[in-house]
Amino acid sequence: MTEQVIYLNGRFLPAAEARLPLLTHALHYGTGVFEGIRAYYQAETGELLMFRALDHFERMARNVPILHMKLPLSPAELTEAAAELIRLNGFATDVYLRPICFKAGERVGLTLPEQQAFAMLAVPMGDYLDTRSGLHCGISSWRRVQDNAIPCRGKICGAYVNSALAAQEARDRGFDEAILLNEAGCVAEASGMNLFLVRDGRLITPDPSQGILEGITRDTVMTLAREEMAIETDVRAVARPELYAADELFLCGTAAQIAPVTRVDGRAVGAAVPGPLTLEIQTIYQNAVRGGMPQYRAWVEPVYRYMRTAVEYAGRAPGRS
Ligand code: PMP
Repeated sequence: MTEQVIYLNGRFLPAAEARLPLLTHALHYGTGVFEGIRAYYQAETGELLMFRALDHFERMARNVPILHMKLPLSPAELTEAAAELIRLNGFATDVYLRPICFKAGERVGLTLPEQQAFAMLAVPMGDYLDTRSGLHCGISSWRRVQDNAIPCRGKICGAYVNSALAAQEARDRGFDEAILLNEAGCVAEASGMNLFLVRDGRLITPDPSQGILEGITRDTVMTLAREEMAIETDVRAVARPELYAADELFLCGTAAQIAPVTRVDGRAVGAAVPGPLTLEIQTIYQNAVRGGMPQYRAWVEPVYRYMRTAVEYAGRAPGRS
């Protein structure tokens, strides 16, 4: 295998040449902001499609000022750099991109150093969680980090200690994934995914004041449900017992995609199998991210830029020259 190429401070480098000093501020204090972006491989065309990459970089641009940072390039330029990174690695498989902007100053002390760095790497990624058989989730004994402690919508590295503790505790207790409550005892989200309930044919998801990341997949799900299934989402506080009483439940996120949940705290959700509405959303989502729905073409960015893009391959979109 040829050596992996990464992106660091404006340069594409072999991964082995990327070195960080041990005193890097972000390593000690978690002072970084990251993103996670997927790119989907189209075997028929050989094309790789980045999904909502611009939206991810725009979210990152909104988040980095929380730590007094600024992205080195515009979201559009970073989207192009991400495409170039994938091209240089020549991936022919589904890929996960991890951009990270962090405090690079080398000193002991908690105030935010001036120096910052920006890195990006890409790794092959299949399913992050089981998306087929249904997950068994447990309510975490860890509460979701509060917005006025570490802004959880900020995708700030240090806040992910909270997610890691919850995810590990869930595995140690025999669950697949954790669901975290906020300090008020309402449902927030999973360790790295948002959460949707289905009840009486409607979708319900916690509102942004509940201590959640406003996920791009969450937004995609609400859009696809409204546009393709005529289903609206109630965005509101969700009480813990509602999880047990839901007809269906699923987690969603860039890495996790749409992952049905069939048990919470050992209790069956609905019929304890992935529900019909969840499965339908899962199918539509996979179709959209893989470029099969021309109406969502603005969400997919072809990386290799073949003359026939994946969407044109589906034969439903105007040609590109
Ligand atoms: N919540 C948390 C805590 C996350 O880390 C993520 C993954 N980035 C999500 C939700 C899902 O967000 P997105 O759909 O934008 O990937």
